[in-house]
Amino acid sequence: MPPLLQQFADLFWKYGLAAERSGAIRGTHFSRHRLAPRVLLIRDETRPESASYTPLSHSISVNAAHAAVDGLQARWNALKARGGSSMRDDPALSSIVGLEKHSSCLMVHELTHAWSSTDHSGHSDISLTISGDSQTLPYEYAAVAVHSYFVQTGFLADLFAQT
Ligand SMILES: [Zn+2]
Repeated sequence: MPPLLQQFADLFWKYGLAAERSGAIRGTHFSRHRLAPRVLLIRDETRPESASYTPLSHSISVNAAHAAVDGLQARWNALKARGGSSMRDDPALSSIVGLEKHSSCLMVHELTHAWSSTDHSGHSDISLTISGDSQTLPYEYAAVAVHSYFVQTGFLADLFAQT
């Protein structure tokens, strides 16, 4: 299990709790859970999805049979060694832990299920207020909007510092 995935979830959750507490973001439900979901690595060819969130256990299962997690930590370390210049240099890494401002990636998709307490059956529109701006967005856009706010407020620098 690449530690990066749990570190990403932990930091994402910390940012979510802080944004709710300060009122910077309304419409998310991070505070239903004090801690980030536990990230589990599974390898199951019979399951079609690359990852899923289970509300009952508040956990994210990443399926190594479909998600490109092999060598993920090494690729992350290499990116860091290059100064983290561009995630675009590594599209496979970016598809799992996208860090650019408008990326949509596996971890952000699943963490959005976690803060909205939904599983894969629910990809409904989400009403959000971010920095006073209220919008109802399709699921994936809402996911990106929250992640983008975190990236703008230091998420990337913190993740690099903590991993
Ligand atoms: Zn989903």
